[in-house]
This record gives sequence, C-alpha cells and structure tokens, in this order.
Amino acid sequence: MPASIIDGQAVAAAMREQYRLRSAALFEQTGTTPGLAVIMAGDDPASRIYVSKKIQACASVGIASRKFLFPADVTQAELIRQIEDLSADPGIHGILVQLPLPKHLDIKAVLGAIDRDKDVDGFHLYNVGGLVIGETVFPPCTPYGVMHLLDHVGVEIAGRNAVVVGASNIVGKPMALMLMQREATVSVCHARTRDLAQFTILADILIVAAGCPNLIVGPMVKSGAVVIDVGINRLPGGKLVGDCDFDSVAKRASLISPVPGGVGPMTVTMLLVNTIAAAERAAARRTAAPSLRSADLPAV
Ligand code: NAD
Repeated sequence: MPASIIDGQAVAAAMREQYRLRSAALFEQTGTTPGLAVIMAGDDPASRIYVSKKIQACASVGIASRKFLFPADVTQAELIRQIEDLSADPGIHGILVQLPLPKHLDIKAVLGAIDRDKDVDGFHLYNVGGLVIGETVFPPCTPYGVMHLLDHVGVEIAGRNAVVVGASNIVGKPMALMLMQREATVSVCHARTRDLAQFTILADILIVAAGCPNLIVGPMVKSGAVVIDVGINRLPGGKLVGDCDFDSVAKRASLISPVPGGVGPMTVTMLLVNTIAAAERAAARRTAAPSLRSADLPAV
C-alpha cells in the first residue's frame, strides 16, 4: 500500500492558529506584543525570499516584526552593534540573523552577540549546549518542526531506529539530538558515509537533509518506514524537489512528507512559536504573573 502523505501545510496552519490565540492572550494579560527582528546582510536572492516569508508570517500570528538590511560589505562591528542594540531593546523578543552571511563575517561572533534569551533560531552556543543536555530553550526551527510532524501523526519514537542523513549544525545534528532525547536509537550519515543504503534500510524513522535530489530511492527504505524529507532542491527546469525519489520511496514507506508542503511550512511556523514563547518568558520575568511564570519550555 502506498504511503500516507504528511500534510505539513495543514499541521503548520493549525499551529499558527493556536499561537495566534496565545499571542493575543499575552497581549491581553500583559500588554506585550511579541517582537521579532530579522537581520540580513548582502543580497542573496533566496535569503530575500525567506526573509519576506518570515516577515509575512509574523503578521499572521500577531508578532510585530522589524527588518534590518545591511549591504554585503557591512563590517562585523556594525552588524554586532545592531545586534547588541536589539538585544537591549525590551520590545524585541527574538533576533534572527538570516544565513548565509557574507564570507568576511565571522558567523560564530555574530551569532554569539545575540542575547541568548532572544536566540529564536537556537544557534547561540548556550542554546546548542542546552539541546545537548536535554534542557532546550530554543529548539532550532527545522528539526523542531520535524518533531512536531512526527508527533502530530502519532509516530512512536522511543526505542525505534532513527537514521538522519545529513549532519549540518542547523538540521542534521540538532535533529539527531532531539531524536536521542526522545530515546530513539540514532545513526547519523553524511557525505563521507560509506554505503548509505546499509544504514537507511534499518531506519524505522528516516530523516533526510542532505540537499541532493534522488539521494534516497525506494530500495534503500525499510518497508513501513516513516520518511521525512527535509531537502529543498530546485531542478534545472525550476521544479522544487526534496532528497527522496518520492514515487519509489512512497511505495515502501508507511508515511512520507512531500516537498513542497512537508517540512518547509513547519520551519517558519516554529520560528513564530519560538518568538511567542520568548515573549511569554520575558513577560513572566517582568511581571512575575503566576499564570505566566510557568510559560512552558518546549518538549522536543
Ligand atoms: P548543508 O549543506 O549544511 O549540510 C548537508 C549535509 O548533508 C552535510 O552533513 C553533508 O555531509 C550531507 N550530505 C551531502 N551529500 C550527501 C550524500 N550524498 N550522502 C549523505 N550525506 C550527504 O545543508 P543543510 O543546511 O543541512 O540543508 C540540507 C537540505 O535541507 C538542503 O536541501 C536545504 O535546502 C534543506 N533545508 C530545508 C529546510 C526546510 O525548511 N525544509 C530548512 C533547512 C534546510
């Protein structure tokens, strides 16, 4: 039987509605409007599209967003000064630096300048460390979105074999940590992995985030596996595809997320979730209101 399709668009829409209500309640109770600053340096066309999608999404859930665009030759000192100003601004609860940055900038220094309580992308070393020991404050958005998709469709995680293909700092590694935190047995594969199929075929849960179209084909997938395709690749004709050969993988899997319409809508949604959660925590610190003091930390 062909796999059921996981509708990321629908899951994302439901979460946005839930968080729109949460953001309205926060305003009603404390007068706080969640605020997100998005910083971009340079003129990468894909980054421009991502930034404008994030700004639009903010409005849909009651987040006030501000965009800061810098030329490609911005100095590190200028960029860091802006981040420090925003870190001190009480109207801003989340700061996002759109990646990639121009090559002359030291990404570690730039991300390290973000106030760790406003690090809604979860890339500050403090938050990375929190994720490693299971005390997550800001889960990185893409793997956080994947966890929500798995939970939404009721996939059991504890004790299952999970294989993550891709080991980047923003997707593969945090993904593996989140699955480990939920007691899956996790293998991580990457470009130097020999014989990828010998790992993928063992996966009950297969997460693919490599950026290679058709990397995963049906015979590499265990019958009945849950497959989440994180990859986004634009083919020469303009078509958007993931890392899996959808048709052959869907014949083996029990559940599969499509591209587009799978993980993509969840990534932006989790940014909104992290920003509203940051605003709730800031309001709780400021007012010590009992109802907000326990503003929940994410379960990943
Ligand atoms: P990256 O280039 O930083 O990392 C890619 C990882 O995949 C590396 O660890 C590399 O070793 C591994 N890899 C590359 N080729 C491989 C191969 N042939 N076999 C096994 N492993 C291989 O990329 P990233 O930022 O982690 O993104 C990965 C993919 O996910 C890209 O297609 C990106 O566009 C997509 N992405 C999607 C979303 C979303 O919201 N859906 C968000 C972030 C990234």
